[in-house]
Amino acid sequence: MGGSFFCYKLEKRHWNHNIFILNEEEEKMKIIMLGAPGAGKGTQAKKIAGKYGIPHISTGDIFRANIKGGTELGMRAKSYMDQGQLVPDDVTIGMLLDRISEADCQNGYVLDGFPRTIPQAESLTEALAKRGEKMDFAVDVDVPDEAIVTRMGGRRACLKCGATYHVAFNPPKTEGVCDNCQDNLVLREDDKPETVQKRLSVYHDQTQPLIEYYKGQGILVTVDGTKELNQVFQDIVAVLEA
Ligand code: AMP
Repeated sequence: MGGSFFCYKLEKRHWNHNIFILNEEEEKMKIIMLGAPGAGKGTQAKKIAGKYGIPHISTGDIFRANIKGGTELGMRAKSYMDQGQLVPDDVTIGMLLDRISEADCQNGYVLDGFPRTIPQAESLTEALAKRGEKMDFAVDVDVPDEAIVTRMGGRRACLKCGATYHVAFNPPKTEGVCDNCQDNLVLREDDKPETVQKRLSVYHDQTQPLIEYYKGQGILVTVDGTKELNQVFQDIVAVLEA
C-alpha cells in the first residue's frame, strides 16, 4: 500500500464515516519498542516519532531527568538504575500512565523502555482498555547478546538533551561533543560493562516474556536490529505502513 500510515488511517476513518461509524481511535498510532538494552530501540523510537509527529516517551529519559533535577522520584530510581536493576513497578507504572494522558499524546506515541515487565504490560493494557483503546504495534528490535555487549561499550550519551551516539556506528560530528547542544558526551553508568551484563540478564528474565505477550495480542512485529540503523528504520516503516 502506498502513502503514509496516517493516510491509511484516514482512509479507514473516511470509510467508517460513510457507514456512520466514526472511530477516533483509528487515527492514533501507539507503538511499543521492545528489545534488549542497547538494541537500538531508542534511536529507532526517536526516528519514528519524528516521521509521524508523535511524542517519543522513554521511561529511562524521564528517570534521568528526575535524577538531574534532584527530585524524590529521581533519587529513588537512581539506586536501581546504577546497579542495572529495574525501578519498581509501583513507581514506574503510575509515572508512565500519567505521561500518556498528557495532551501531546492525543494522536499516539512511541514507548521506549516501557513496558519492561508483564505487570507493566498488563497495567498498560488495562488502562488503555478503560479508554476504549489498545496499542497498535509492538516492534521487537532483535539483536543477539554478543552484539549488544560490543555496542554498549561504544555508546555515548548527552546527559543534557538525552541524545545518544556510538563511537563507531553513529558518531557525533565532533568527538565527545553532542551535535544538538554541544554538551560533553559520557559513558553512562548503566552502559559500563559489568552493568550491561546485569541488564542483559534482567532483560532475559523480566522483559523478554513480553515478546510472547504481544504475540498473543497479535501486534508483535520483529525486525533484524543488527542491520545498519537506517535500514532498520526502513524495515520498521515498511511494517507500520504495510
Ligand atoms: P533505558 O534508558 O531505557 O535503558 O533505561 C535505563 C534504566 O532505567 C533501566 O536500566 C532501569 O533501571 C530504568 N528503567 C527504565 N524504564 C524502566 C521500566 N519500564 N521499568 C523499570 N525500570 C526502568
